[in-house]
Amino acid sequence: MQPAVIPLKGYAMQTAPTLNRRGEIRHDSLQIDQLFVKTTSKILLSYKGRFLCKDHKAHYFSFEQLKALDGHIESSLSNNDHPLQKIYLGEYQQIHYFVLQMVELYPALAEMQLLDLRTASLSAELFDIGSLFYSQGLINWHFDHAFCAKCGAKSEPVQSGHSRKCTNEHCAREHFPRIEPAVIFSIVTSMDGIEKLLLARQANWPEKRYSVIAGFAEHGESLELAVAREAMEEVGLEVSKVRYISSQPWPFPASLMLGFTSETKQHDIRLVDQELEHAQWFSAEEMKAAIESGELLMPFSVSISWHLVDRWYQSQTGNSLKSINKNE
Ligand SMILES: [Zn+2]
Repeated sequence: MQPAVIPLKGYAMQTAPTLNRRGEIRHDSLQIDQLFVKTTSKILLSYKGRFLCKDHKAHYFSFEQLKALDGHIESSLSNNDHPLQKIYLGEYQQIHYFVLQMVELYPALAEMQLLDLRTASLSAELFDIGSLFYSQGLINWHFDHAFCAKCGAKSEPVQSGHSRKCTNEHCAREHFPRIEPAVIFSIVTSMDGIEKLLLARQANWPEKRYSVIAGFAEHGESLELAVAREAMEEVGLEVSKVRYISSQPWPFPASLMLGFTSETKQHDIRLVDQELEHAQWFSAEEMKAAIESGELLMPFSVSISWHLVDRWYQSQTGNSLKSINKNE
């Protein structure tokens, strides 16, 4: 099966302004330290998997502001054993961006909002969403990889937070952030000449929330085969015409979601592996009615799953899902 690449359209995160990651300077800790204290540099603060925000927007601090909160911050940051760690994210319009992971919340910050990634992304600018997802993915990885996977000794961050090195000098293995590829895909079929989209839900999701199908790619498997296998395992459908659409980092905790469309000639849904609680075919008209009545809730609006549903809905109606008046 030869997947055709369809031009990226309508998926805002794909075309949003994004950081130049400046991978070539990550090794230069002296230069990174100088950039960190520059008055124009912007620093995100993360605490226990959440971000410091103001007015529901990601808030950036300057080094001077951090120093006012913590007079010892410089010595803390130069100590690799100290859990307060800075990660260099990159540069955009001559401004350098960092994220700092805190182990304790400075009392002066207790009044600020601490938002999880999903909530912080809801009203954020696309540039900030990109930076938040990027930060969260790296932070998750550091948190889970404090020890060398080869010899079990402690590891420490190097490359300005973009890799970790084993502290056992006989091993000294360098470890790089893991990314877990997962496929996410729409399935459509035709019933009496009407095209329908499959939506499904897991039992632990918020009530009435539905989405398209997703699952991790396995070793020795192409992405197209992963789509076909997941479709069979989760809903018992044989799919064809698997086409790549676009991708999205999804740091919950370490995924890269690879979005596809697919088709099936079959109609009977079988929840083979019981990962799903319910799955159902929707025509565009049925979808609109269910959303309006509040019986159907769509995925998180910056997610690729939302985009895949919206893309299909637009192909059927000419309108975005955003045009539907929700009655939640
Ligand atoms: Zn080691």
